[in-house]
Amino acid sequence: MPKYEIKQKLIPVNKYTRPGQKLQRVSGVTIHWTANLNEGADDVAHYRYFSGHAIASQTYASAHYFVDHDSALQIIPDGEMAYHVGARNYRTQRLGSYPNNCTIGVETCVNYKGAKFDAALDRSAWLCALLLKKHGLGIDDLYRHYDVTGKDCPKYFVTDSTARQFGFKDADSAWSGFKATVKRYMAQGTSAPAKPTPQKPSSKPQVQPAGQVGIGRAEIIASALNLRDKPSLDGKVLKTLKGGSNYNVYEVKGDWYRLSGNGWASAGSKGDLLRYTPHPKPDAPARVKVVYKGREGVAVRAEADFSAPAEQYVKYGEVFTVDSIVKSRQGTNMYKLKSGLFVTAVDSYMREV
Ligand SMILES: [Zn+2]
Repeated sequence: MPKYEIKQKLIPVNKYTRPGQKLQRVSGVTIHWTANLNEGADDVAHYRYFSGHAIASQTYASAHYFVDHDSALQIIPDGEMAYHVGARNYRTQRLGSYPNNCTIGVETCVNYKGAKFDAALDRSAWLCALLLKKHGLGIDDLYRHYDVTGKDCPKYFVTDSTARQFGFKDADSAWSGFKATVKRYMAQGTSAPAKPTPQKPSSKPQVQPAGQVGIGRAEIIASALNLRDKPSLDGKVLKTLKGGSNYNVYEVKGDWYRLSGNGWASAGSKGDLLRYTPHPKPDAPARVKVVYKGREGVAVRAEADFSAPAEQYVKYGEVFTVDSIVKSRQGTNMYKLKSGLFVTAVDSYMREV
């Protein structure tokens, strides 16, 4: 019998907090804290935030689950991407080049300290155990947000002074204590059935059909080409690709091309196995105008990062001179303006004039 249960209240699909993209695979569970100490900041308050204000303020952020002292709430399905571990650089190689596309995010609400916080943390450990088992993962596949990006989250598992504020001896013992609880729940069994064979995801890589995603496209010129789990002939063969087929390319390393989450194919030393065509760099328009009519306006930021705070909001009809088109930290296009600030290049917000 499950000790706790999970409520589900999904936020609407939208580009800021629930992009609706499928996870490429599930390789890890990441634990966070909400960092919001207000008593009202429970799981339902976070559902409201991520279905409301976060979208209106164009904030790329979210997580799959929010856990407080008396309930666990799922707001994004397990199989879909949330924006909870994005960064420029990552501390681990184990989650590929974009951990958001292969991890599930669990946030512990910190709206209370003391017994209610302990209850929220216990419920979080139970949920992490359930998710690890459900996806055929082990305790080593449980990450702090800190382990993935270096962010001090959950802060009581990273910083001793915060650990003491939440009743722990120090951050290390808080984190190892949490992992021990997760392990205990995994051993006891949660409500979720464990997957018998964890090999299954890697034997069936999801290679998406070609389109305008990734950094370019690849055509298989060889009559057949192996897709391997690393950019080396030592890599395990995941699948054999047919000659003449086309794939999106997400990363290039020497003569190796990454065509899926962890699937690599080689063009061969003479380049005669695969033909790579990078996507053309978009031409930047000289000037763009705000075409978004919402009262809140469009956020202009100091960095090419949708999670950076807005420097200002610009309103319908305002015109700006464009310096160039750049990739945001989230991978989508932004206009770099002559002023040095950055704004979305989505054409329902900003359009060429
Ligand atoms: Zn976090």
